[in-house]
Amino acid sequence: MAQIQSPMHSQPIIDPFGRAISYLRVSVTDRCDFRCVYCMSENMSFLPKKDLLTLEELERVCRVFVDLGVRKLRLTGGEPLVRRNVMELINNLGKLIGQGKLDELTLTTNGSQLARFAAPLVAAGVRRVNVSLDTLDPEKFKTITRWGRLEQVLEGLEAAKHAGLSIKINAVALKGVNEHEIDRMLDWCGNEGFDLTLIEVMPMGDIGGEDRLEQYLPLSLVRSRLQKRFTLEESSHRTGGPARYFDIKETGQRLGFITPLTHNFCEDCNRVRLTCTGTLFMCLGQDDDADLREPLRSSEDDHAVKQAIQNAIARKPKGHDFVIDRRQGAQSVGRHMSVTGG
Ligand code: SAM
Ligand code: SF4
Repeated sequence: MAQIQSPMHSQPIIDPFGRAISYLRVSVTDRCDFRCVYCMSENMSFLPKKDLLTLEELERVCRVFVDLGVRKLRLTGGEPLVRRNVMELINNLGKLIGQGKLDELTLTTNGSQLARFAAPLVAAGVRRVNVSLDTLDPEKFKTITRWGRLEQVLEGLEAAKHAGLSIKINAVALKGVNEHEIDRMLDWCGNEGFDLTLIEVMPMGDIGGEDRLEQYLPLSLVRSRLQKRFTLEESSHRTGGPARYFDIKETGQRLGFITPLTHNFCEDCNRVRLTCTGTLFMCLGQDDDADLREPLRSSEDDHAVKQAIQNAIARKPKGHDFVIDRRQGAQSVGRHMSVTGG
């Protein structure tokens, strides 16, 4: 069947607020080998396999987005590296970089499988990864991730460094858990040559008995504490994403703050998110979505999928309204981060 041909360098779609949508985050699985306390409950129930897009469907939909002007793809999850045969997808998407159609292919991972995958990722064209790591204390690591082992992640990071990947550590700031360790993590990142981004807990998805109000630590507090030991120089670095960046004079590395609950970061938003079931979310903090699985499965022609994407971006909201408070309870968006992809 005839495919719609697009020029090599498509212009990104512009949303109603003038934002160019050039960045797609794709959750390739909702499954994970960890059970982080802020992300999912220990007995999390996962989606039926038949609901997930196949690797071929994921590749096809990514290619359609690239045809529509997306220049950056981030694979996430769940844990992207536990999806069976995920390297097939990564290798195929990596080829788009060589063809000049894509600027960057990257991943957000918990690092548990990096020892195995670091070298193949580099061979596929991946240059940077975000690795989530909230503590350097093995016991606390176990408490936070429930099923994870710190040693395994540190080995993964070592392999990633060795393979030449640039690494950014993502750490969720957790009250009473890692709050007094963040300066040590900043030192460690400085020594390892990693950037660090701190994230506020977001009210997404049921997490069982855990209380998000208890987990929530405002980054304004973390920042003022860090400023007693480090010189934070505001950086002009922008990614179109939610982080504000600072250069740390003492370590030479960058520190980012993702503060969706205390700041608004939506004016420059350049991204949309696709779940592993083919649902497109135009905003991490809003419920409006568009189903791409049906148009993907109903025809081999990409026309209907393209149309669905264009229609969805035409209703991308201006911003989110996350809130953690006692009236609303601690869950203002019902879906889990592991479904939408962080
Ligand atoms: N499994 C991979 C990982 O942990 O990096 C990728 C998916 S995970 C959902 C992506 C990011 O979302 C991680 O950095 C994780 O710490 C963060 N995250 C998960 N649930 C969150 C929540 N409720 N609030 C803030 N960040 C969250
Ligand atoms: Fe898994 Fe990442 Fe969620 Fe932790 S944050 S449970 S590693 S998906």
